[in-house]
Amino acid sequence: MDNQQIRVRFAPSPTGPFHIGGARSALFNWLLARKYGGKLILRIEDTDLERSSRESEENIKDALKWLGINWDEGIDVGGEYGPYRQTERLPLYRQYTDKLLESGKAYLCYCSEEELEKEREQAMAKGETPRYSGRCRHITEADKERFAAEGRKPVVRFRVPENKDIVINDLVRGTVTFESVGIGDFVIVKSDGIPVYNYAVVLDDALMHITHVIRAEEHLSNTPRQVLLYEALGLAIPEFGHISLILGSDRTKMSKRHGATSVEQYRNRGYLPEALVNFLALLGWSPNGEQEIFSPEELINEFSMDRVAKNPAVFDLDKLNWINAHYIRKASPESVLELALPHLEQAGFVALPVIGEQKKWLTAVVATVQDYISYAAQVVDHAAIFFADTVTLENQEAGEVLQDADVPRVMADFRAKLEALDTLEEAAVQAILKSVTKEMKLGGKKVYMPIRVALTGQMHGPDLPKIIVLLGKEKVLERLVGLANA
Ligand code: GLU
Repeated sequence: MDNQQIRVRFAPSPTGPFHIGGARSALFNWLLARKYGGKLILRIEDTDLERSSRESEENIKDALKWLGINWDEGIDVGGEYGPYRQTERLPLYRQYTDKLLESGKAYLCYCSEEELEKEREQAMAKGETPRYSGRCRHITEADKERFAAEGRKPVVRFRVPENKDIVINDLVRGTVTFESVGIGDFVIVKSDGIPVYNYAVVLDDALMHITHVIRAEEHLSNTPRQVLLYEALGLAIPEFGHISLILGSDRTKMSKRHGATSVEQYRNRGYLPEALVNFLALLGWSPNGEQEIFSPEELINEFSMDRVAKNPAVFDLDKLNWINAHYIRKASPESVLELALPHLEQAGFVALPVIGEQKKWLTAVVATVQDYISYAAQVVDHAAIFFADTVTLENQEAGEVLQDADVPRVMADFRAKLEALDTLEEAAVQAILKSVTKEMKLGGKKVYMPIRVALTGQMHGPDLPKIIVLLGKEKVLERLVGLANA
């Protein structure tokens, strides 16, 4: 791929939440552009007027920027081959449609929906795959006038060459051959003058000098139609690479049923962009070796289309969580707090904005729990022990810890020593715990465990001295007293 100026594109339809699969297509194209010193073009395919929205377009741009996927030409940044929004390119498409009509490679079709539906039903009844019969292929001028007088508005259909093999050398799937026989003359421009995806995409990719079309597998079946159009228009055909579907853990196509599917949902839960990029890169591409954590720079160096797998990629949430946990551990507590704040607010633990001492305290809380979480929203569960008014025992076993015969004297001694401390610091608290252990002549577990359970209700968690410092003397004593009275 390196001997030419690579021009790739990401061409989303702005019709809803930005799906993880779209982000992966964008990422693969970006990696190729950056690896080979090429260009990434961002084009908006908004010819579905009913479903497209500017809101969704903004959402896609935001998500790409957040992921660190920048583009060299396209909406917002401009470029030589604009405009980059399909609805702004209608006059351009029209010129090509006129040429196709003049040369007879396309024709006007006046068939009504009802007529087409009847044809479909008849084909199905005969056990045939429905396809357009070609009724308007030889329509006369007189017929056209009659239909126009009836108020019918024509579509433009492409005249599909008969008995032709269409061979695609796909960068991922290898050689794939389609037969033109199965493809009926298909609509390229609808009756409202708006081109369909298969037509606009060909003109845009050609006019924007795209060298490699890297996109989702679901478009493989569209590719023969597109190749026929390139040939009819006399335009250079780019290389194609169709990346595999993303499946859920049950190996069916990933959908809402499997949980979060949009980039925004992961962002809101407190996943980090570098983790998502790392994870998405491994969704269909496999590096040469065992390494699993990659920085964007490493991905740019390592990425290649010949290691993009033909078989479907399975979305493994545990793996994403593992990767994200890695990046969360490396992130600053301040930044993890920022991501956790909306969740802490929603849980009723804080009121926004947080400032001053409270912010300092919250940052310390996050620093204490950050090694135990996979994504920032989980701070809520792990930090709940610091906010609750009362301690809830996590299970029966925790309750039993407090029934031990030594517990009253351990607690009394610890309380007395704690009360005598002027300021709570980790080292001092640790020292008290040690001296209780020594004086009571007990194993560490017999001291630490009941205190941990009394303060948090749980048998595991962050370092006990850290918990005690964060709770503060007052709350610790309150919880110990609460226990004594229970
Ligand atoms: N607008 C199409 C989509 O979002 C793009 C297909 C292509 O990349 O050619 O699926």
